[in-house]
Amino acid sequence: MLVKAVECGECKSIVFSRTEADVRECTCGRVIVSGGLQYFTYETHPGTPSQVKKIEVGATPTILYNDWYSLADQYGLVVPTDTEGHENKAVYIA
Ligand SMILES: [Zn+2]
Repeated sequence: MLVKAVECGECKSIVFSRTEADVRECTCGRVIVSGGLQYFTYETHPGTPSQVKKIEVGATPTILYNDWYSLADQYGLVVPTDTEGHENKAVYIA
């Protein structure tokens, strides 16, 4: 499933909002997304470079809702691959 997300130019993490009530920030807190899949919107701290992109997430809207509701927080924040080469959960499309 393709999801609109925002990449933070400071911490390089990518965040997306899972449900309408989900407010999520990037690792450094400069990018904040909300509104869920349908009403996606975001804010950045002044001067923070950011880029909106579509990412492929291996989950359905129901899985994302449950992830948010149960506070499992498995989805919504994609941290850049670390130096040990662990894979990201998301694949870049654009
Ligand atoms: Zn950040």
